[in-house]
Amino acid sequence: MIVRKFGGSSLADSERIKNVAHIIQDRQDQVVVLSAMKGITNLLIEVSGLAELGDQSYHEKLENIKNITIKTAHDLSVSQEKIQEINQLLVELKDILHGIELVKECSPRSLDLVSSFGERFSCRLMTGYLLSLGIDATYIDARKLIVTNTSFNHAAVDSKATKTKILSQLRNIDKISIMTGFIGATNEGITTTLGRNGSDYSASIVGGALDAEKVEIWTDVDGVLSADPRFVQNAFVINELSTQEAMELSYFGAEVIHPSTMLPVVEKNIPIVIKNTLNPSAAGTKIIANPKRHSNPITGIASIEKVCMINVEGGGMIGMPGAASKVFTALAEADINIVMISQASSEHSICLVCKANEANLAMETLQTKLQPELQSKLIQSFDLQKELEIIAIIGENMRGTPGISGKLFKALGDAGINVLAIAQGSSERNISFVIHKSSRNLALNVVHDAFLGPKGS
Ligand code: ASP
Ligand code: MG
Repeated sequence: MIVRKFGGSSLADSERIKNVAHIIQDRQDQVVVLSAMKGITNLLIEVSGLAELGDQSYHEKLENIKNITIKTAHDLSVSQEKIQEINQLLVELKDILHGIELVKECSPRSLDLVSSFGERFSCRLMTGYLLSLGIDATYIDARKLIVTNTSFNHAAVDSKATKTKILSQLRNIDKISIMTGFIGATNEGITTTLGRNGSDYSASIVGGALDAEKVEIWTDVDGVLSADPRFVQNAFVINELSTQEAMELSYFGAEVIHPSTMLPVVEKNIPIVIKNTLNPSAAGTKIIANPKRHSNPITGIASIEKVCMINVEGGGMIGMPGAASKVFTALAEADINIVMISQASSEHSICLVCKANEANLAMETLQTKLQPELQSKLIQSFDLQKELEIIAIIGENMRGTPGISGKLFKALGDAGINVLAIAQGSSERNISFVIHKSSRNLALNVVHDAFLGPKGS
């Protein structure tokens, strides 16, 4: 059996829903995991916030959700019975929001309950539509299968309990099972969510538990591209990626699929295939443990926009254990995520890269927390550079291959691009470098041309 997941944009309106139904008609033995229709989760969160504030405009927004849902149900000619079910849910939603309005509080727990409606609507719509076409389908509420803790809004899954439930309820499915993504429940049956965009994770959990043949993630792009197509015209779809490469790429903003999402299937060597609902015949990108070898020196290029770099300068750090630890501890305590680090072996400076919107906080934190080190001249200064970008070349073929960085920096040098910092992990699957954002387009293109040629040949 297989697991297929469709995101909100693939379910934006009745036409898109019909298109998905068309794709999933080909086999009975599948679990189809759905997100909410596009925009609905955002609306639900917005409505909860307004109700909490007693802002009466929440009624209007709720009406909006209702109209979208009921109109879609009619457009899909679902049965009267299904429309009734949906109407009942809408009444329940209204009551919950009224409760939030009365107590003037929307706790994370209540927010999860409200957010859960998006998937509960979309899955009923899909099931109703399939049934109206005479296709045997069944609605599955993930709260009966996915067991989580009580970390509302970001609940952690109890894999063992979840697996038991999935195996007992889904093992021998003989009709298309339409399951709500994103949501789960505690042991006591309290509704939780797995975090925004959590439906990929739901699909991967089910796929892993059922030992699926594969997990397909359907979106609105042809697969994972060799570089961001907004900036690189020659970017092409990568046929196969190793799990590690996919993790590196998604970490670097390629938004393939969230790394932690892949874990339940990766552990079992189950392939993940990224497919396009708008172009179903395209092969997509397959993510597997051991992909076919290709002959390109790298697999893809990723980038992270809007970063800044802090350079910690200080002769006093040479040979002194603990200097880096102080810097990183201070930043960690301020909840600042460090995206890249580089320290030359002279130990004279450490440079670290973080998101631009955390630049000021990071600088203030360092100035305050490391005041003693500054005073004793162990550290001379913290310098901040803004408007930067990280670019990373990624690929299994880089491992143990000499000349990759030579080629990379020659291409950048020939194009007159100044490199501000470099990092390569010892996994050798990734070389990252920092440039000013004004050189981003040029850098991405010269690097793409140098390694992947005009057409990736
Ligand atoms: N509907 C949820 C969200 O928008 C989950 C998902 O789309 O995967 O975050
Ligand atoms: Mg989504």
